[in-house]
Amino acid sequence: MSESVISYNSGPLATVSMGLPGDHEGKTATRVFFVRGGEKTALIDSGLYGGLPSLKQAFEELGVERQDLDFLLLTHEHMDHVGNNGWLKEETGCEILGHSARADRVADNMLNAKSIVHAFPEGENFDLNEEYLDWMGPTEGPIDKFIKDGDVIDLGNGVELEVVEVLGHSMAEVGFFERSTRTLVIADPLLPTFNPVLYLYEDPNVMRATFDKIERFLKERDVQAVLLAHDEVKSAAETQELVDDCRRRVDKVEESILSHIKAEPGISFLDLRDKCCDDQDMVREWRALVSIDASLKDFSSKGLVEQRDGGWHYVG
Ligand SMILES: [Zn+2]
Repeated sequence: MSESVISYNSGPLATVSMGLPGDHEGKTATRVFFVRGGEKTALIDSGLYGGLPSLKQAFEELGVERQDLDFLLLTHEHMDHVGNNGWLKEETGCEILGHSARADRVADNMLNAKSIVHAFPEGENFDLNEEYLDWMGPTEGPIDKFIKDGDVIDLGNGVELEVVEVLGHSMAEVGFFERSTRTLVIADPLLPTFNPVLYLYEDPNVMRATFDKIERFLKERDVQAVLLAHDEVKSAAETQELVDDCRRRVDKVEESILSHIKAEPGISFLDLRDKCCDDQDMVREWRALVSIDASLKDFSSKGLVEQRDGGWHYVG
């Protein structure tokens, strides 16, 4: 067998690492997580389609029979987290659990890709096949049952996964807290410091409220370890540092937006994106449009900026 794909293995939890294609060059490898209880086995996220060989290898390495997988638990609808849903459903017959708010996207790969890549006219020149569709498998695995904050999935022998809503990066994102080991498994509310892409959020205020929620959760629940989809396993103290850094990065995006609108009245949406990415030395790409748009909406609602003749002006 080739090199192990299991990068963390402790108690009921095991992390499977998969590479990411394209400009990330493996830097932000995607991870999915097996959770094995006394009676049932769950997998948190199915990963990107290109990682399917790693997923198959993980079943072998862990000695989990495919038909013994009971649940696939989804953190959020982004394509690098649901890419093997269809394969898993077919091979294992598992029940797929996820947040209701983006169930339509999970059930339709093309809708999922278009709703983020082609959400703006400025994104229309991005090639879906090149950029994203290869992250998703040929078949979808729709959500069978909805989960919400506070729900508990009992896997037996004290292994219990509590659903923790962590919205902002996606407005349908949840994490899972494994109670017996006090391990928090979250995908993307906390993006790694080395992420080459501008902090991705759909609502800056909801994102900040989630940073506060995670900070409280670490203390109140005496969290021992945090498993993240695109970063190494962290202690509570290391996670707290990451939370602080994430706050700074979101603040920096918003400071950049305001400063460039002030410096260049009438600046276009696309130029704003480019300048904000340049300020933080990030890749000028389509996902950044989501965050810029979210902050502009928030600034507009507060009467700080307005759009006139296709450009943005400071009016605060
Ligand atoms: Zn994501």
